[in-house]
Amino acid sequence: MSKIKIMDELLANKIAAGEVVEKCASVVKELVENSIDAESTVIKVELADSGIKEIKVTDNGVGMEREDAELAFFRHATSKIKDENDLFRINTLGFRGEALASIASVSKVTLKTSTGELGTQIEISGGIIENISNGDARQGTIISVRDLFFNTPARLKHLKSLQSELANIADFINKLALSHPHIKFTLVNNDTVILNTDGTGNLLKTINAIYGTEVSRNMFLVEDENEDYTVSGYISAPSIHRSNRNHIITLVNGRVVRNQELNRAINDSYHSYKPDSRYPIVVLNIEVDPSLIDVNIHPTKMDIKFSKFEQLIELVTNMIKNKIGRKNLIPKVEVKPELFSEKPKYEEMTLNLERISETEEKYSPIIMNEDFENNTIEHVIENVIENDILETKERMPEIYPVGLVHGTYIIGQNELGMYLIDQHAAKERINYEYYKAKLGNPDNESIALLFPFTIELTNSEFIIIKDKLEVLRNLKFDAEEFGINSLVIKAHPAWLPTGYEDVSTRKIIEIILNHGPNFSIEKFNEKIATTLSCKLAIKANENITLEEQEQLISDLRKCDNPFNCPHGRPTALFYSNYDLEKLFKRSGFDNIV
Ligand code: ZN
Ligand code: ZN
Repeated sequence: MSKIKIMDELLANKIAAGEVVEKCASVVKELVENSIDAESTVIKVELADSGIKEIKVTDNGVGMEREDAELAFFRHATSKIKDENDLFRINTLGFRGEALASIASVSKVTLKTSTGELGTQIEISGGIIENISNGDARQGTIISVRDLFFNTPARLKHLKSLQSELANIADFINKLALSHPHIKFTLVNNDTVILNTDGTGNLLKTINAIYGTEVSRNMFLVEDENEDYTVSGYISAPSIHRSNRNHIITLVNGRVVRNQELNRAINDSYHSYKPDSRYPIVVLNIEVDPSLIDVNIHPTKMDIKFSKFEQLIELVTNMIKNKIGRKNLIPKVEVKPELFSEKPKYEEMTLNLERISETEEKYSPIIMNEDFENNTIEHVIENVIENDILETKERMPEIYPVGLVHGTYIIGQNELGMYLIDQHAAKERINYEYYKAKLGNPDNESIALLFPFTIELTNSEFIIIKDKLEVLRNLKFDAEEFGINSLVIKAHPAWLPTGYEDVSTRKIIEIILNHGPNFSIEKFNEKIATTLSCKLAIKANENITLEEQEQLISDLRKCDNPFNCPHGRPTALFYSNYDLEKLFKRSGFDNIV
């Protein structure tokens, strides 16, 4: 190659680096994907200072011959398409060929590779090959990228903080590990192990390595299929959730993809089982004939479109709802075994409630990586399979009330242990399901009032509501204009709570007034049901009799979801006999006196 050509090539690579190499994670992505393409089963990523100083990837893949190794750093030396049926590969073409050349043009690279015979070692600085020599014969590739952007300092400034570069990389490796449970991934930063999967092919073990036992033992196995799609994976119990949707991971034919609508449908399947502002942890693999998908690949994301999308959404939604609908979801209050040591402190008693601990609010890969013992995870896997399928109506066990604390919490018991029930949350749930059923029924009856009441509004409110009288009428209100800025209500739906007719009518009118332009009747009904159920539930600090407590629990048990109030908060907590004994230090002693 002439010198001018090489200079052109270098410049083109540097320009491309600006687009392709946005952050350290882009470099990691390129290197690790090469390792996967090389059929590696063990991939180790070692970082110095979150990758800014050095990114080193070691694999046990097929390795490269010397000629290929040299060519790999040239812009148009794109490796051939290995499998023409691989849609993903075809779409990545163009990006992949340039990436390694671009990375090499803005860093110092050492490549050691071998197919098992003579090894090759190549040193490159700023895109220029400085040295080629014989390396050792160990099969596989070790590539080290140092001093990223050393020759383009302006780009260096675009890198984020060490913490956020590391979080991006961890996020990326986590997703790869979940999509390739057969590959053993290790991620290390400055000698701290951040992730270490076992590569046995067990997805739950991979989830455990990433999220820790707290999460993995609260994951449910799901699988279902229709004519075109086969879906399988793990979904978190509703009590396990995170502050962002980053942990809803969808794979298509084993590769991580993004589809916002699909993610939304997955999240919506948990509706009212968790707070709306929180998101579940989900890993779903969708198997489908590649002709039914359309993949659009950009260096930083992989968006996907599906044919027969509605059927897919229905499949996934029903699968999740069915699974959650067959579980006893009362959160268990327990003592963490590893904390139950010689000198336990009260602070160490931890509620098994993610929502209470906000440690996960700020995404930190280091916190996520929790150590576990082998027997724990085996136990977890056993449990996930075993404790399935309860009849929908028997999900919440019989609970017998024994008393009330501060007019707020009912203490209950059965042979399994003790329960605390939040009477407001419980009543809220019962009301909510009642109103939702009524609101969803178009044949609602209406009650004519002997003494109509009026509702006064401001002039601007009045203008809006005049336009929406139809909405009130559909709800079986008889409402008319009455003088200046007032409505007269002559009849109301029969299900309005007795004694609170005008209060609830006002509430409903407020909801209509505040409802945005994209008016969906479903969301509107949801809002009315949630608002009324809260306003009309028993307040805290209200003493109810033992009979009323029994009635409340019995009504709660009849609910579709007895475990959460409409806002997603728990209605009940459970203390097993075993955990009570541990809390009082009774367990482990032979003679309790
Ligand atoms: Zn409330
Ligand atoms: Zn609530």
